[in-house]
Amino acid sequence: MSKPLHIGVYPGTFDPITFGHLDIIQRATRLVDRLIVAVATNVGKDPLFSIEDRIEMIKRELQSFPLSSDIEIIVKPFDSLLVNFAKEEGAQIIIRGLRAVSDFEYEFQMAGTNRKLCADLETVFLVASESYQLIASNLVKEIARLKGDTTPFVSGYVAEKLNRRFAP
Ligand code: ADP
Repeated sequence: MSKPLHIGVYPGTFDPITFGHLDIIQRATRLVDRLIVAVATNVGKDPLFSIEDRIEMIKRELQSFPLSSDIEIIVKPFDSLLVNFAKEEGAQIIIRGLRAVSDFEYEFQMAGTNRKLCADLETVFLVASESYQLIASNLVKEIARLKGDTTPFVSGYVAEKLNRRFAP
């Protein structure tokens, strides 16, 4: 009998994908055989980039990703309840990143709520490497809006997308 796959879902808005997200994706691939990067349509957060653009940027970043051949990363949109999406995908774990104490309360509440909704799903928190811990998509967007350099936080490709977005 083949060994059961470990499947993880890493949900987020990814508006846009940063080095912090990529660091978490890389760490998550050490824990699972298949990682589903689930991009929330998230109209509530009024994203800067469309769902298509956010997915395209993630896929592009992952092309140059060091990955062993037996690990699969899939990027997908989702707009349903996270636990339902995770169950449909056959996932056992939800991956979230923790940046600082400020993330904790919201993440703790969400993990607890998701556990009430689906007791079989575990939420696993990962911490990015020190140099990426402080990166947040919101700050990156603010820097781009004010014509600052975003390349310490996002790839050249994403930085260019941001620049175009905020071009006069
Ligand atoms: P959401 O709207 O779900 O918070 P984000 O795209 O902002 O979507 O974040 C997705 C996940 O990635 C969250 O768990 C967030 O805490 C995590 N994350 C984002 N940036 C970082 C970072 N620099 N270090 C660690 N985790 C991060």
